[in-house]
Amino acid sequence: MSIDLHTHSTASDGTMSPTELIEHAKEVGLKAIALTDHDTFSGVEEAMAAGERLGVEVIPGCELSLESPDGAGWMHVVALWIPPNPKPLKEAFDWVIEGRKTRNHEIVEKLRTLGVNITYEAVAARAGGTIGRPHFAQEMVSLGVVSSVNEAFKVWLGDNGRAYVPKRKLMPEKALGILNEIGATSILAHPFALGLNMADTEKLVKDLQKLGLDGMEVIYSEHSDSDTKAYREMAERLGLLVSGGSDFHGAVKPKISLGKGKGALHIPDELLEKMKEDRRAKGLPV
Ligand code: AMP
Ligand code: ZN
Ligand code: FE
Ligand code: FE
Repeated sequence: MSIDLHTHSTASDGTMSPTELIEHAKEVGLKAIALTDHDTFSGVEEAMAAGERLGVEVIPGCELSLESPDGAGWMHVVALWIPPNPKPLKEAFDWVIEGRKTRNHEIVEKLRTLGVNITYEAVAARAGGTIGRPHFAQEMVSLGVVSSVNEAFKVWLGDNGRAYVPKRKLMPEKALGILNEIGATSILAHPFALGLNMADTEKLVKDLQKLGLDGMEVIYSEHSDSDTKAYREMAERLGLLVSGGSDFHGAVKPKISLGKGKGALHIPDELLEKMKEDRRAKGLPV
């Protein structure tokens, strides 16, 4: 059976509520799903209640953005099995979200200076929780400034966009330290997004492993077959857990389907079993 260990809800920048997401997981026949919203776990309780009701296993999780070394692109970590109300993680997210607030106001200012008649309030009204660039993109589509979310990123909001503002991120030492402290399983998300060749990726992954990284997202919507093979071999060489997720966001990423990615993704439930074995061996709850 299939699972999906990387998904977003309206608690961050997805378009389905946690309940709708779990209902959708049931509909498409997934056995288990992890809710991994950016910088928050505020949707987890609702998702778990829906999972109990519908008979879908829900792994409580979240996604963290880490400060990456010079020359590397995005470095994200998916945390699985976060405990209820993890205080150190909450404190770290409060700090990150404080930075997001400043950043969101700066993006509004930049866009307005560039002639886009957008307001903070209108963007905020699109968010159920964490406000991020996808909410800006949706608002820009509805204002008719761009014709798609993708164009909004390409021209305005993306890392080379006209109104780009970097975001506050956690240092890897700090983030992985907290995840170890609270007994979460940490997975390097979408390693292709590091934008490094395989040798440099492996060096970086080894450094992260020394800091407590447990696994790698080998199966991912944007990975080619050869990426998947190379990451799987890397994970095996380094003794890391293998994870897989679609990074489903609902309507903001319409090409990505839950559990299926761009169509051909299959994440076998054996991966979850291996993770559970690893956790049991460490005396951690599953
Ligand atoms: P933020 O956390 O505010 O920096 O926003 C990051 C989010 O924007 C992530 O969920 C990305 O997947 C999403 N994102 C980045 N580029 C694009 C794009 N071209 N189209 C849609 N979503 C994107
Ligand atoms: Zn997102
Ligand atoms: Fe990510
Ligand atoms: Fe994600």
